[in-house]
Amino acid sequence: YGDIPADLLERVEDVVLNRRPDATERLLEVAASVRGTDKKKDEDAEKWRALPVRERLMHALVHGIDANVIEDTEEARLAAERPIHVIEGPLMDGMNVVGDLFGSGKMFLPQVVKSARVMKKAVAHLIPYIEAEKSLSGGIQTNGKIVVATVKGDVHDIGKNIVGVVLQCNNFEVIDLGVMVSCEKILETARREQADFIGLSGLITPSLDEMVHVAKEMQRQSFVVPLLIGGATTSPAHTSVKIEPQYRSPVVYVKDASRAVGVCQTLTQPAQRAAFIAKVGEEHERRREQHAAKKVKTPEVSLPRARANRRAIDWAAYAPVAPRVPGVQRFDDYPLSELLGYIDWMPFFNAWEFAGKFPNILTDPVVGEAASNLYADARRMLKSLIAERWLQVRAVVGLFPANAVADDVEIYSDERRTQLLTTLNFLRQQKGKPEGQPHECLADYVAPRASGVGDYFGAFAVTAGVGIEQHVARFERAHDDYSAILLKALADRLAEAAAEHFHERVRRELWGYAAAETLTNEQLVREEYHGIRPAPGYPACPDHTEKQKLWQLLDPERNAGIRLTDSFAMYPTAAVSGWYIAHPQSRYFALGKIDRDQVEDYARRKGWTLAEAQRWLSPSLGYDA
Ligand code: SAH
Repeated sequence: YGDIPADLLERVEDVVLNRRPDATERLLEVAASVRGTDKKKDEDAEKWRALPVRERLMHALVHGIDANVIEDTEEARLAAERPIHVIEGPLMDGMNVVGDLFGSGKMFLPQVVKSARVMKKAVAHLIPYIEAEKSLSGGIQTNGKIVVATVKGDVHDIGKNIVGVVLQCNNFEVIDLGVMVSCEKILETARREQADFIGLSGLITPSLDEMVHVAKEMQRQSFVVPLLIGGATTSPAHTSVKIEPQYRSPVVYVKDASRAVGVCQTLTQPAQRAAFIAKVGEEHERRREQHAAKKVKTPEVSLPRARANRRAIDWAAYAPVAPRVPGVQRFDDYPLSELLGYIDWMPFFNAWEFAGKFPNILTDPVVGEAASNLYADARRMLKSLIAERWLQVRAVVGLFPANAVADDVEIYSDERRTQLLTTLNFLRQQKGKPEGQPHECLADYVAPRASGVGDYFGAFAVTAGVGIEQHVARFERAHDDYSAILLKALADRLAEAAAEHFHERVRRELWGYAAAETLTNEQLVREEYHGIRPAPGYPACPDHTEKQKLWQLLDPERNAGIRLTDSFAMYPTAAVSGWYIAHPQSRYFALGKIDRDQVEDYARRKGWTLAEAQRWLSPSLGYDA
């Protein structure tokens, strides 16, 4: 939009917005001069190469073109009085344009990350010259310094990487400590580097507690810098209720990567800072009040009543299908090409902050072009990563005899069900429900031991992330965050695709309870199959620690190269694990909030103290612990 010449733009807008009676004639007057041919397009594309070097650098930055950036930067350096002037001049100016276009919704995240790549490559070229100058006048003046990290026990970092890149584009210095970073390391780095902000990110629920811990430590160690909170598991409510009261200096919940810049900029402007902090403080207060008010109306259904209202399944009428291939199977170096048809693309676009449906998003009038370019880059990288075998897919699947006992599921090693391998503990909904709706628990979808019906249960773990590090490192060495982030996002997609693919293989052949099933990928994404694959840590079974039992059953560390962190996150990051349940009435649900009676019961079943149970279940507690 910003590239359309002003006179042409005015005439086009006159027509579109019907601003004047002679709009059509006036547009036709100039139409001939902009008639396009393919040849002209090529010429246009190359025309910018003839511009003065300053404009060329700006053009490359705004359009994210890194092909000529080194030669242009070198030319600018030779012409400049000092190498630093190239950064302070054209590069900074270009990034400011990018920042403005992004801020006004005319550029989108993938484009900004590509612009940042141009900037990084240019700066990397200049750094040796700047250092050689050994100037006393110090480094580059930045807007501020931020230390960002994914907290201890957590591994996800795509969102945090994007935040880092976007902040760098806006001239903030970003020290990214990576994933699984201890509180000590975050605070020690922030102190040593005299950071202006600390940003914490997390994907899984145990990280919420870790963030509270970091906030407490910041207070104890007398930090005063603003603390920014973001990531999939975080929320405005948790930030206001649990984190903010621990730290007397500003705590700001940052909803997505695009907001990080605004927040940091506002906090560095003396004129706006105080008013912003006051506003954020009021929001915290308001959310805490809302939270307190909600408490009053949460006398949920008692555990005995919820249990009495379980989903009624007629087990006498159900004949479980015995797995065709019982026990544990491993799949090493599974062909990547098998997985392509199973990719659900929407979460990929969500990771880059595009909303909407796939494939419609590719032709969307506003974001279509940016989304299509991103998709083309993704398909291109998929091709290379398959041809050059960058990633290894590994999986392990286990199918076992099983029966339910109350809210638990017993897993046996033998058909006679005498050798107990492990007992899985599940939680039951306790929220208020309309008449006739059951209080769901995953154990209800498995035949109870007392029914005499011999049922089965499955478990799986898959990864598409074996070998990813060296390629991410290769891109990072080349100052190419765009490709590094793209690769991580694709590996995540391939892991989910592998989960979908193996689930289908299980239904059709390994277990074989739906041998005749034929569904398209669209139907798979809409979950139109029989049975479910609930994942520990997700809404139906939010207790991450149950993954320990999954690891005990399948040994995915040895069989698939996937290990668990202290918080039960999986590493490599591009991994999915979960249970298989076959019953046609089984469905995904959200546990919601539970009451103290169930937490006490669950603690007994798990051999935990009440305090341990409350810590691991804290996001699900419907009462103040
Ligand atoms: N097709 C999507 C699936 C995302 S959900 C994608 O490609 O990203 C990821 C996984 O979470 C699912 O495969 C399933 O294993 C699990 N899941 C989804 N909803 C759940 C729920 N309510 N409770 C437990 N697990 C769930």
